[in-house]
Amino acid sequence: MSCIFCKIVEGSIPSIAVYQNECCYAFADLNPKAPVHVLIVPRKHIGSLGEVEVGDTALLGQLLWAAAEIARSKQLENGYRVVINSGPDGGQTVDHLHLHLLGGRSMTWPPG
Ligand code: AMP
Ligand code: ZN
Repeated sequence: MSCIFCKIVEGSIPSIAVYQNECCYAFADLNPKAPVHVLIVPRKHIGSLGEVEVGDTALLGQLLWAAAEIARSKQLENGYRVVINSGPDGGQTVDHLHLHLLGGRSMTWPPG
């Protein structure tokens, strides 16, 4: 398996763990775009949001739940942003589904 996020999940590439449960793993982004920048990934390899199947709906809920739990643990009471880049036009660069949790500064809209 050449997927870097699968390797992070299994521990063969190091990462700074932030949160984990039976279905997902969250770790610090290597190149943070905000004071808090956490990536939340399913343990199971799914290439992108564009590849999810009907059987993945509970897992998708778990990923959002993890984002909210991490935001609470980081005291982001003033707000934060959760982003999923999907496919080339979405700006996805790692082909393993992941949520970005960004916080600790004010965000602008629209994104680039
Ligand atoms: P995306 O562009 O949405 O696919 O996001 C990929 C994210 O993965 C980027 O924010 C990268 O900084 C991050 N990233 C890539 N490799 C690593 C790594 N080994 N550890 C932590 N974050 C990484
Ligand atoms: Zn993967």
